[in-house]
Amino acid sequence: MTLRPRPWLDVLEPYRPGRHAPTAAGSMASNESPLGVNPAVVAAVSAAATHVHHYPDPLATELRHRLAEQHGVDPEQILVGNGSDELIYLLTWAYAAHGGRVVCADPPYRIDEISAVVAGAQVSKVPLRDWTHDLTAMAGVEAELAYVCNPHNPTGTVCPRADLERFVAESRAGLVVVDEAYVDFADDPDDLTAVAMAAAGRAAVVRTFSKIHGLAGMRVGYLVAARPVIETLRAIRAPFSVGALAQAAAVAALTAPDYRDRVRRHTLDYRGRLTRLFRAAGYEVVPSQANFVLVATPHEEALTAVLADGGVAVRPGSALGHPGSVRVSVPSREGFALLEAALVDATALTAPTPGPRHEAIAELS
Ligand SMILES: *Cc1c(COP(=O)(O)O)cnc(C)c1O
Repeated sequence: MTLRPRPWLDVLEPYRPGRHAPTAAGSMASNESPLGVNPAVVAAVSAAATHVHHYPDPLATELRHRLAEQHGVDPEQILVGNGSDELIYLLTWAYAAHGGRVVCADPPYRIDEISAVVAGAQVSKVPLRDWTHDLTAMAGVEAELAYVCNPHNPTGTVCPRADLERFVAESRAGLVVVDEAYVDFADDPDDLTAVAMAAAGRAAVVRTFSKIHGLAGMRVGYLVAARPVIETLRAIRAPFSVGALAQAAAVAALTAPDYRDRVRRHTLDYRGRLTRLFRAAGYEVVPSQANFVLVATPHEEALTAVLADGGVAVRPGSALGHPGSVRVSVPSREGFALLEAALVDATALTAPTPGPRHEAIAELS
């Protein structure tokens, strides 16, 4: 018989990863750590490499116990995954596959939508209002899963915890999944996090080591949820999805938190600089609580191209479901200098109609 992908996959718009610039400093497309690798992680991974003839611990016991202690939850309420993306796929498979429904923002974090389409679930996308989740509208949607990304990607905006608590109480979804990939970059992460709600069994929280811990290449994330949810996902997951080196790297990152603290300080400092730089150049910048900013521009492609000429890679908004913008990750000090120089060549793009600024440029050239 003829082999054909399942018909519901026809509408799938595959994930488009960010590009790398010619230099690490210029790479601002994927929200990676601008401070390079944590030396404590390199040492731990080298040491763990001597044991890779063994299968990894399927339940990442040491890591899980450390995380449980850090969050004040039971280790049985945590599942470690191959990046948080694996955990999102597992949640979708377990609770929404084959005709269930997920509700998320429009634009959502791309994986929330892609995993649902792959699993044959229906997706209800609720447009953002003022760049943030419209929780009131989302609460009315009957669905198995509701995804809230807090802070959101690609906007960097947050839903205050009081709003989230009301949403969890009022939502018609079976489970509210809060993706906290960027929570460590918020002004007050402890005040924002929904981990306590997850521990109480009323929501689930997804976290990652890819961002503040600088382990995007290692693939480690975790879920905090009620025990029945964790047990269900354990039963359907691939048992060895989190490698031994990844587990060792994550444990080392938790044990040596000075790297994390440096990344946080740098990010808050340079997020402010990044915002001021683009605003001074005439752009609207969405106030961000993450390690990137979203810059609104009617010239998405031209701005992306001009920055690429200057050695800077950013993520075009249309790849993230938000045409008319570019998303710029917080760079290193060197990266910021590259960006400053590259932006000078983009000045003409901020004059929406030919005006005095345009004419001045025309006279110069
Ligand atoms: C970067 C990111 C993640 C991290 O995914 P990993 O699979 O853990 O690398 C999760 N959620 C959002 C919204 C992100 O932007």
